This record gives sequence, structure tokens and C-alpha cells, in this order.
Amino acid sequence: MGKLTNKTALVTGSSRGIGRATALRLAREGALVAVHYATGEEAALKTVADIEAAGGKAFAVRSEFGVPGDIDTLFEALENGLKERTGTTTLDILVNNAAIMGGVPPEEVTPELFDRLFAINAKAPFFIVQRALGLLADGGRIINISSGLTKFANPQEVAYAMTKGAVEQIALHFARHLGARGITVNSVAPGITDNGSPVFDIPEAVEQMSQMSAFGQVGKPADVGDVVAFLASDDARWITGSFIDATGGTLLG
Ligand code: NDP
Repeated sequence: MGKLTNKTALVTGSSRGIGRATALRLAREGALVAVHYATGEEAALKTVADIEAAGGKAFAVRSEFGVPGDIDTLFEALENGLKERTGTTTLDILVNNAAIMGGVPPEEVTPELFDRLFAINAKAPFFIVQRALGLLADGGRIINISSGLTKFANPQEVAYAMTKGAVEQIALHFARHLGARGITVNSVAPGITDNGSPVFDIPEAVEQMSQMSAFGQVGKPADVGDVVAFLASDDARWITGSFIDATGGTLLG
């Protein structure tokens, strides 16, 4: 029996990358997983199909964050999907993973890009947590994916890192708010992780990025997904309000 049998989970941005690996791992542990996506329907359906092929349970939910009605759209699909499969809308595990990066020098960050980064990476997770409060079971889990860039300078990503600094605050304050219900709230910070984007096909770039980790490698999505699965399990019941460094030692300097 898996560690998450009879649990339900929502993983935002699980059509690909770290979110996909997290969804696969949570499902492998027995959770019914809502695989959220924005534009990558085919990829999300593949995540669902791969979970089912491995004997797990999942369904896809679509919502683009950062546009009006985004949270309503997400929860309508989530609640319908849960009700259809479990008879209730109870949610045990919420993983706020979906995000976009900036990728421009500080001088080129426009107010529009800044607002979009905050809308998707910080505002959406806050209102997803707020909306999930009514669905979350006592003893539930909230895990927000941050980034090593809240503690490691990269001027190209200053605005993105600011959004991740904001998202880390959710763990501090909601951990206190929800402790009486046994709900834990934590941040997981990945380092450079091969999410399948084209830069990971360039050997020289991978070599350079690998040097940042104490292990001399770039991370694999499952390296982070497995940490999230631990936090989602009962074994992590005594960890809340924490920043978990899942950068492969990048922050050691
Ligand atoms: P990817 O870029 O591979 O995937 C991003 C996911 O977020 C996709 O599922 C995408 O959905 C979804 N998404 C993007 N924009 C929106 C939007 N507007 N509304 C809703 N969903 C959206 O992500 P990674 O796996 O690289 O990163 C996952 C998390 O880890 C992020 O929070 C990221 O900041 C963090 N992180 C990643 C690092 C890395 O090196 N990869 C390093 C440090 C932190 P769709 O494709 O369907 O549009």
C-alpha cells in the first residue's frame, strides 16, 4: 500500500517538468491526482495516461493563471473531478508548482512583465490556498515550489526571484494559521532542474549549470518531486513553515 492511498492531490503545472514528476510520484504512492495545465493539454493528458498506465488515478484540469476568473475555473474543474471520482470535494494535498520565469536583465523588466510574474507566481498560489481552505482535510498538506534564487543572486531573474520570495511567505504565515488543523505548509526550493527546455540539449550549457550543484549535475524533475512526496506523506507531519533546500547543494556556495 502506498503512503498516500485514499488521498487526493492537486499539482498545478503538472503537464510537464517538476510538476509532472511530482504528479507521477504522488500517484505512485496511491493519491488521486488532479493534473493541472494551462496550454499544454496534450502533455497533461499524457501525464494522466502515464499515471493510469502505472496503475494510478488522475484527471486533468485546465486553468490559465493571471487572467480574470482563473481561480474559479480551476476550482470548478477540480471540484467536479473530485466529486465524480470520490463523491466528495475533499483535497488532502495542494502543490503550488506552476510558474513562469522572467529571463531579462533588470533594466528590461517592464511593469507588464513584473505584473504578469506576480500574477502567476505569487497571486495565484495565494488565492489557490485561500480557496482550498474549505476543501482541505485536517492533516492536509500545502507545498509551494519556490526557487534557490531567493538565496542565490541572478540579476537576470530579479523579478522572478521576488515572486518566489513572496510565495515563501505563504509557508510562514499559513503554517501558523493552519497548525491547529494539523495542516502543514512548506516551501521547496529547486536548483537548476532539467525541465526539458532546449537549453538542456546544449552540452556546454549543461556542463556549466552542473558546476553549480555540489553533486556536479543538474537536477532531474524527480529529484524535486520525491522531496514533495515526502512532505506530502505522514512521515513529514512534524515539519511545517519550513524552507526545504532541494537545490542539490547549490546554496552551499
Ligand atoms: P515548466 O516550465 O517545465 O512548466 C511550467 C508549468 O506551469 C507547466 O505545466 C505550465 O502549463 C504551467 N504554467 C505556466 N504558465 C502558466 C499559467 N499562466 N497558468 C497556469 N499554469 C501555467 O516548469 P519547471 O518544471 O521548470 O518548474 C516548476 C516549478 O519549479 C516552478 O515553480 C519554477 O519556478 C520552479 N523552479 C524550477 C527550476 C528549474 O530549473 N526548472 C529552478 C527553480 C525553481 P502549460 O505547459 O500547460 O502551459
